Amino acid sequence: MVEILFAPWRLEYVSAADTRDRSECVFCSAFESKDDRATLTLRRDPASFALLNLYPYTTGHAMVAPVQHCSDLADVDVETLCEMMSTVKDLMAAMRELYRPHGFNVGFNVGEAAGAGIEEHLHLHVVPRWHADNNMMTVIGGSRVIPEDLGRTFERMVGALKSIKGKS
Ligand SMILES: [Zn+2]
Repeated sequence: MVEILFAPWRLEYVSAADTRDRSECVFCSAFESKDDRATLTLRRDPASFALLNLYPYTTGHAMVAPVQHCSDLADVDVETLCEMMSTVKDLMAAMRELYRPHGFNVGFNVGEAAGAGIEEHLHLHVVPRWHADNNMMTVIGGSRVIPEDLGRTFERMVGALKSIKGKS
């Protein structure tokens, strides 16, 4: 069944991202929060963490960010990038198991000109893709239609990540 996601509180989340104050950075706030479910935080590692995107492009759309608050790839050390890429592999394995995507988009948007929605804290997108996914997502009244709600995706991804950690 298709479920329509309509969540006006998300507008506050986005406007909170407009500030450059670290204390209100959505990524730093998510990492510092102890409530993984509320922040959709999938995994915490020493130098990075993974969370679901509140505005998923497709079901499962996740992000990996360094714990360090920085906006440029040049500011992140190679060890942290390796840890992030290891998480990307695990996220892809979890998505493959749960959603059987046909492909993935994996990448950084660095800077607003490149499409970064939250440019002050670098993050890597992992987006599962299907051949017909553009047809699956219709815009109705300005809201995307996503085949699965975020709470359900969170539960499933956390479970799958636990089972694949270290195997990929
Ligand atoms: Zn931050």
